[in-house]
Formats: sequence, structure tokens, C-alpha cells
Amino acid sequence: MIPKTEIRFSWIYNKMFNESLTPSEFIESKNEIQEFSNFYNRYIKKILQTIEDNNKPWQRDFIPIYIVFGKIRSFSDPLTIKYRKDFKLMILILIHELIHNNIRERYKNPSLAHKKINMIFEKVLTDMNFDGFEDTKEKYKHLSEF
Ligand SMILES: [Zn+2]
Repeated sequence: MIPKTEIRFSWIYNKMFNESLTPSEFIESKNEIQEFSNFYNRYIKKILQTIEDNNKPWQRDFIPIYIVFGKIRSFSDPLTIKYRKDFKLMILILIHELIHNNIRERYKNPSLAHKKINMIFEKVLTDMNFDGFEDTKEKYKHLSEF
């Protein structure tokens, strides 16, 4: 069964990564989070299903997804995504981090882990049949984030 996911936007969590964040900036950012949330809702179920189809059954039934404004790298546990204006790019990064969660094995060598992740990632993207994500895929390839 695919896990339930939920977008989380937490003041304390954001403050941990971004000390200069002010309460008013945080409140203003809620609109952007809502917009991203609407965008993500179009894809998330199919993404989770497609990852499972291309790797293995999910072992968690709930995965919260934290969004952070600030200069961070996205990471997989707890699943944390850096906010970007480019929602499509956020979706591709989310897929990457979700695959980490689906794999769950600990690799001593991160580049070996990423070989496997990239393999699954390519299959997921093919199966998702995203429309209009071509430029975003190029951007994703050149990220230094992983
Ligand atoms: Zn990674």
C-alpha cells in the first residue's frame, strides 16, 4: 500500500535551518506553501505508486514532507525539501528523496546509492510521463544538491 504523505510547514523546523527568518516572513510564505501543495497534489499518488512499481513495496505508512525556506540541501529523513520557485524542480527533488525512503538500505558509499537511485529515478520519470518537464530534467541533472 502506498503511504500517506503530508506537506508540513513548521515554524520551529524552519527556524532551525534559517535563524534570520521572521514571523511575518513565515506567515507570508504560507501562501507559497499552499500553491506548492496544490501542485504536488496533482502528482503525489501516482509518484508513490510508480516508485513502488519500480523498486519495492513501501514499508512506511506515513511520510511527512517538510518544506524549508533557506539555504539548505534537501534530504530524505526526515524528508525535507528546500523551497524553490520552480515547483517542477521541487517535484523532481521530492521524487529523489522519496526513492531514498523507498530503498531504505544504508550504503557506505553514497555514490553507489545514487547509482541505484538514478536508475529508479529514470524509470519513474518515464512511467510518470510528465508533460512539460523536459527543461526541468536538465536543471535537475545539473544540481549540486545530492
Ligand atoms: Zn540523494
